[in-house]
Amino acid sequence: MIIFKFNSIKVQINTSLARIQTLILGMDRNIQIDVLRLDLIHPIISGNKWYKLKYYLEDALHRGFTEIASFGGAYSNHIVATACACSESKLKSIGFIRGDQTTELSHTLHTASLLGMQLQFITREAYQNKKIIMENNKHPNRYWIPEGGYGLLGAKGAAGMLDEAPSFENYTHIVAAIGSGTMIAGLLNGSLQHQTIIGISSLKNNSSLEKEVFALTEIKNHHRLVMNHHYHFGGFAKHPSELLDFMNEFWESESIPTDIVYTGKLFFAINDLLHKNYFKEGDKILVVHSGGLQGNLSLPEKSLPF
Ligand SMILES: *Cc1c(COP(=O)(O)O)cnc(C)c1O
Repeated sequence: MIIFKFNSIKVQINTSLARIQTLILGMDRNIQIDVLRLDLIHPIISGNKWYKLKYYLEDALHRGFTEIASFGGAYSNHIVATACACSESKLKSIGFIRGDQTTELSHTLHTASLLGMQLQFITREAYQNKKIIMENNKHPNRYWIPEGGYGLLGAKGAAGMLDEAPSFENYTHIVAAIGSGTMIAGLLNGSLQHQTIIGISSLKNNSSLEKEVFALTEIKNHHRLVMNHHYHFGGFAKHPSELLDFMNEFWESESIPTDIVYTGKLFFAINDLLHKNYFKEGDKILVVHSGGLQGNLSLPEKSLPF
C-alpha cells in the first residue's frame, strides 16, 4: 500500500490498484490492446505523475531539503500532483505558475493551494527563462523540480511504470501520451529491443520534442521510438466537440474514463490508427493510461458522463 517511504516520511499511493484492462476494440481483428490503468492509483497524484516525482522527492529528502519548488501552467497535473505529494510527505511546496493571476483560480491551482502549495505567478515572458526565475528565488532549503518533472530522475521513475504491467515483455508496442516527453523517455529506456514505443503528442508543432526525449534516452533505443504529431486537436488542452464525443463513446464502450489533455487524444489515436490498419493481426499493444482525470474538473459540469 505505502510504496514510498523515506526516513519515516510516507506518501500513500496504492500502486496495487493499477491493473490491466483489455479493450474490446481490436478483438475482432485479433489485435490485443491492453490498457495499463495507472489512473487508479491515486485521485490527485495519478498516473505518470507519481512515477516521475518519486526520485526527485527521494533525492530532496535525502539531501535534507524541506521545500520543493516547481513550474507549471494553470491546468498542470504536475503542479497539483507535486502539491499533493509534498503535503503527504510534510514538505513545503511552491509553484511558479505561468501567466498572470486571474481573479478566479483554475480548479487545478485551487486544489494545489488547498494542499498547501504557495503559488507565485510569473508573466508568460519571464516564464520562458526558468534559470533566471530560479536565480531570483534561491533559497537554501528549496529543491527545484523541472517543469513536468523533465529530467533523468523523472525518466528513471517513468521507466518503473512498466513494472506494473505483468509480462510486459510480451507486448509488441507500447503507446503513451506525450507532454514534456519525460514519460515516453522512461518507457523507451525501460522497454525491450523488440518493442516499438509510440508517443502521441498533445502539443501542436513541438519540433524540439524528439531532441528532448533523446536527451534522456540511450542512443541504442532511439530507432524504436515513433513520434506521432497528428492528434493534438488544435493544440495543448484544446478539446473540440469531436474529442469530447469520442471520450463519451469510449466510456460507453470500454468503461474507461479519459482526460481532455492527454488520454482522450491518446485513445482517439489508438482507435484511428487501428482503423487505418496501422497495427497488424497478432500485435499486442500496451497503452499506458497516465491518469490526469482531475483536469476534467475544469470543464463545465455534465460535459462528460464520468
Ligand atoms: C503529464 C501527463 C502526461 C505527459 O507526460 P510527460 O512525461 O510530460 O510527457 C501524459 N498524460 C497525463 C495524464 C499527464 O498528466
